Amino acid sequence: MKIINDNSSGDYHIHSSTISDGMNSIDEIVIQAGKLGYKEIAITDHNQEYLNTYHFYANTHYSIIASGRWKNIHNDVHVIFGVEADLLNENGDICDNIQNFSPEFLILSAHKQMYSGNPGLIKNGYLNAINRYGSKIKLLGHLCSQQFSDYLNTKDIIEIVCAANKAGISLELNCANLVNSKTCEKNLEAMLSSCKSLYVNSDAHTLYEFINLRNKGFKYLKSNNYI
Ligand SMILES: [Zn+2]
Ligand SMILES: [Zn+2]
Repeated sequence: MKIINDNSSGDYHIHSSTISDGMNSIDEIVIQAGKLGYKEIAITDHNQEYLNTYHFYANTHYSIIASGRWKNIHNDVHVIFGVEADLLNENGDICDNIQNFSPEFLILSAHKQMYSGNPGLIKNGYLNAINRYGSKIKLLGHLCSQQFSDYLNTKDIIEIVCAANKAGISLELNCANLVNSKTCEKNLEAMLSSCKSLYVNSDAHTLYEFINLRNKGFKYLKSNNYI
């Protein structure tokens, strides 16, 4: 298993208050990324369907970001703007836009409130989405969340991970879920033992999480002999 972002290189799953439900602005996050010594980060705010469902309204027109008007004036950290897309049903439909812009760095996650299909068929949803959008998806976010662990056993997880491996899609150790005991550990073990390439991401919604969660993820990987 290859880890794409080691402890000091960067974090690729972060939410901002500029666009979605994080507590800090893009500029605050970037300043903190510099203090952490990161080379690159991805701000991956929630997609439009998610924002609509929770009545979150972006503080900024996404066109300001999409047209390149935002620049990092703080440090040398390279900032990627991405999106946390949602898996919507077993057909593999996804929502990957924010205000009709579809950022290039795409995390595909499933959230219970957003998935309107048959949860018993969520494995098919992942497989169909990988089939349909594989070339666009960089990683699957929190695949081992307890939200769907009643519907995904270790065999299902391995099947999804193998499809992701084949399509060149990475998996994610989601440190927020891990630390907040929202991870199905059995499924996580199955994912980690079958995945080819892994991001270790905070899924931070606060600066505290941005600073601290990934360290705990690496500790978990070390103490379980994955690294
Ligand atoms: Zn969120
Ligand atoms: Zn997230």
